[in-house]
Amino acid sequence: MTDNRALRQFLRLMSASGISHLPTVTLPKLAAAPGKLLAARLKGAAPSTPQPPARNKSASQTQLLSPDRLVPNSAQRPEILESTRSLLEQTFHTAEQQADGLSKLAEAVSACKRCAELADTRRQTVFGVGNPDAEIMFIGEAPGADEDRQGEPFVGAAGKLMDKIIAACGLKREEIYICNILRCRPPGNRNPHPQEAANCREFLDGQIKIVAPKYIVVWGTVAAQNLLGESRPVGRLRGQFLQHGDAKVMCTYHPSYLLRNESAKKLVWEDMKFFMKELGIDLG
Ligand code: SF4
Repeated sequence: MTDNRALRQFLRLMSASGISHLPTVTLPKLAAAPGKLLAARLKGAAPSTPQPPARNKSASQTQLLSPDRLVPNSAQRPEILESTRSLLEQTFHTAEQQADGLSKLAEAVSACKRCAELADTRRQTVFGVGNPDAEIMFIGEAPGADEDRQGEPFVGAAGKLMDKIIAACGLKREEIYICNILRCRPPGNRNPHPQEAANCREFLDGQIKIVAPKYIVVWGTVAAQNLLGESRPVGRLRGQFLQHGDAKVMCTYHPSYLLRNESAKKLVWEDMKFFMKELGIDLG
């Protein structure tokens, strides 16, 4: 089956039929990984990690989180918006449907004032950007000053560093979908409060559901802990694949941290090599 859309529909049909395990497909190494070639490879790759209840990384280097860890914190989730609920109940078969779903969700976000302090101080909401049908999603912490000004995630100094990492991996920014735990800038770039993360969670869940990435790269401890309901810092979460829904998750340090800690760049590069190897790309 060469048509990717048909393949995705076929996989969804299998999933709906209760078939959740596919054999691993071993991909040959690439000497170089130009963006288009990588995109073609990703689109053609079958899920390489089946979902048996492997609870340690020894079998597949994928760790399934126990259900209690999926509760992110003790903050109360607000009642889900009706518009988000109906989006979460839909299925998205085409990139056009995915783009339309994201656009509707962004509209709800732009009117959101759940976090009174953030809604009062933001210039605008920062929803997310990128390919609505991306195989790879990046999730960061929250918008900073530059993002708040431009309305796009990862556009400041940290964003420029992320762009370099993306390019070094042979990827293109527009192939990826990029968003944050929060869609509004916390004043002074403080960490998101647990309640703010809980308030914004339905929008993140909506983006993940609509884009349906195969892989999620989580940047920084705050994002990792909030997405995964983890208490471990990123230093203890990196170097393995975790599972969130249907997506395999890899955690690494936030680019802002790298700007303050030059020595951590080496660790992030190790993580990206580990990640790209999972995609069949050997970065050496
Ligand atoms: S951070 Fe999220 S939940 Fe809070 S006001 Fe902004 S969009 Fe709404």
